[in-house]
Amino acid sequence: MLDPGHNGGNFTDPTAMNQQVFVGNGYKACDTTGTETDSGYTEAAFTFDVATRVEALLKAAGANVILTRPNNTGVGPCVNVRAEIGNENHAAVAISIHADGGPPNGRGFQVLEPGPIPGYNTAIIEPSDRLALDVRRDYQAATGEPFSTYYGVDALAQRSDLGGLNLSTVPKVFLETANMRDATDAALLESPAFRQKIALGIAQALNDFLAGE
Ligand code: ZN
Repeated sequence: MLDPGHNGGNFTDPTAMNQQVFVGNGYKACDTTGTETDSGYTEAAFTFDVATRVEALLKAAGANVILTRPNNTGVGPCVNVRAEIGNENHAAVAISIHADGGPPNGRGFQVLEPGPIPGYNTAIIEPSDRLALDVRRDYQAATGEPFSTYYGVDALAQRSDLGGLNLSTVPKVFLETANMRDATDAALLESPAFRQKIALGIAQALNDFLAGE
């Protein structure tokens, strides 16, 4: 299951975005608009482009692939529904694809892992940690992107405030591919050739996770 973060229509419907949804340990907004580069390339457009590239690679390798949204023109789904889509389809593995809105001179990527939410995701903590290590290794090998200079420890962080991780019953991580607010990272994210490298890294990581490597 591939979850391209946000959606291009989220900008148009603040009422829907601000609807509160239960995320296992409290309530949060349905979703957000996401960030963008200085030139106006949105995180939503970026995540959908990367997800469709990963989808093509995985389908060519024989995988069944599900996306949480079919295009970049709609609104939502909310974060709780993004988790449900993986759960209800019994996904073998799931990844949520994002780009960060970090500090202007901070570079690099981070992998966000689920923190345990009793009654919801405790069974996925261990496999999600294995997935995070596969994503960190294969993503860096494919892209050369450095570990985040401003967040996490060696590009890893455990989070208990993300509905998409709190409510997941299938192994899942969030990948913050780079920082859209940094000029060097932004130029990379705006490059189709670099986005293909991102997709290759993600596809390799999912393959390695499912192969037990
Ligand atoms: Zn995001």
